[in-house]
Amino acid sequence: MGELCVRSVLVTGANRGLGLGLVQHLLGLPKPPQWLFATCRDPKGQRAQELQNLASKHHNLVILPLEVANPTSIKAAAAKVGEHLGGSGLNLLINNAGIVKITLLENETLEDMTEIYTTNTVGPLLMGQAFLPLLKKAAQGSPGSGLSCSKAAIVNMSSYAGSIEDVYVWEFGQVVSYRCSKAALNMLTKCQSLAYREHGILCVTLHPGWVQTEMGGSSESFKPPLTVDASVQGMLKVLSSLSEKETGTFLDWEGKILPW
Ligand code: NDP
Repeated sequence: MGELCVRSVLVTGANRGLGLGLVQHLLGLPKPPQWLFATCRDPKGQRAQELQNLASKHHNLVILPLEVANPTSIKAAAAKVGEHLGGSGLNLLINNAGIVKITLLENETLEDMTEIYTTNTVGPLLMGQAFLPLLKKAAQGSPGSGLSCSKAAIVNMSSYAGSIEDVYVWEFGQVVSYRCSKAALNMLTKCQSLAYREHGILCVTLHPGWVQTEMGGSSESFKPPLTVDASVQGMLKVLSSLSEKETGTFLDWEGKILPW
C-alpha cells in the first residue's frame, strides 16, 4: 500500500479527536492535499485552537464552519468549498463528526434517539447530497474508469458498535441510540455506493478502532487500545488502497472487512 495522494479533502468534526488527527496526518503526507477543508462547529472558539494554529502554518488548510445537523450550514459550507476550488471538484469527503450519549436501553428517549440519529446518520446523508456536484466534478476530472479515494470518495466514520452481527463491546456500554445510528449509517453507505457508483464515486464505511479521544475515553484509569496517531495512520493507508472492489463495504482501520 502506498501513501494517499489526493488533491482536495474535507473533514467534518476536525477540531479535535480523530478529525484533528486526520487533518494533522493529511498535512504531513509526502504529497499533502492542495486543498484541505477542516470543518467544525465553532472555528473561532477555544476548542478549535489547535486547528487555528495549524492553519497559520499551512496555507493549504482552510477552516470552515459546519454544523452537520443543520442543512443551511451544510449548504453554506458546500458553496464556500466550491468557491475555493474554482472550477475543480472535491475528491474526498470524510464524514467524521459524531456524538454518543452513554445510556441504557431503558433510559433512551425520543430526544436522544433523534439527536444522535440526526448527527450521525442524517448529517452524512445531507453532506453527501450537498457535496455531490463537487464530487461528481472531481470524478469527471480524473482519468480512468476505476474508483479510488484520489478520484472521488465518501468515507463515513462508523463504528463496530453498529455491527448487528457482533454488537461489539455490549458489556462496556449499551449506547443503543449510538449503535442504531451507526447501523443506519452503514446502510446509508451501502445505498450511497449503489447510487453514486455510476458517477465514479467510491463509498465506504470505516471503523477507526477503539481510540483514545473524548468519545473513546482517555482517562488515566482507562485507556482504549489505540492512539489517534495509530488509528489515523492505519485509516489513511487503507484509504490509499481502496478501489471499486471495496465500494459499499464496512472496513476497519487495518482494512479488515467487518460483519454488518
Ligand atoms: P470526539 O468526541 O473526540 O470528537 C467528535 C467531533 O465531532 C468533534 O469535533 C465535535 O465537535 C464533532 N461534532 C459533534 N457533533 C457535531 C455536529 N453536529 N456538527 C459538527 N461537528 C460535530 O470523537 P472521536 O474523534 O472519537 O470520533 C470521531 C468519529 O469516529 C465519530 O463519528 C465516532 O462515532 C467514530 N468512532 C470513534 C471511536 C473511538 O473509539 N473514538 C470508535 C468508533 C467510532 P465539537 O468540538 O464542536 O463538539
